[in-house]
Amino acid sequence: MKTYRGSCHCGAVQFECDLDLAEGTSKCDCSACTKGRFWKAIAKADGLRLRRGEDALTDYRFGSGTIHHLFCRTCGVKVFGRGHMEALGGTFFAINLACLDDVTPAELLQAPIAYQDGRNNNWSSPPAETRHL
Ligand SMILES: [Zn+2]
Repeated sequence: MKTYRGSCHCGAVQFECDLDLAEGTSKCDCSACTKGRFWKAIAKADGLRLRRGEDALTDYRFGSGTIHHLFCRTCGVKVFGRGHMEALGGTFFAINLACLDDVTPAELLQAPIAYQDGRNNNWSSPPAETRHL
């Protein structure tokens, strides 16, 4: 487990999060992840600390509305999502790995990636093709 610092593009939103990238990251082919090219890792409820920008965050929800997609109202970068699923240990944060300021390319290259076929609501299986995700 390591603590990373992250931010949106303009810096209005800044956070710290505790992640073990060796435990895995994921990419999904649902409509939102595809358009945002969202590459994520999951942090536990106490694994994310917002350092600034609570009032800069805007909440976008779609579909069943279970996931809060939080993005900066100024620069539009989605910093993380927040959801609640018992399978993930209750409340969790899906951290946008692209927003981590102090992760190294080597750490990202070594992180395993699981692919999820969110487009077909089949989160436990990868889609047929993943190279474009
Ligand atoms: Zn911003």
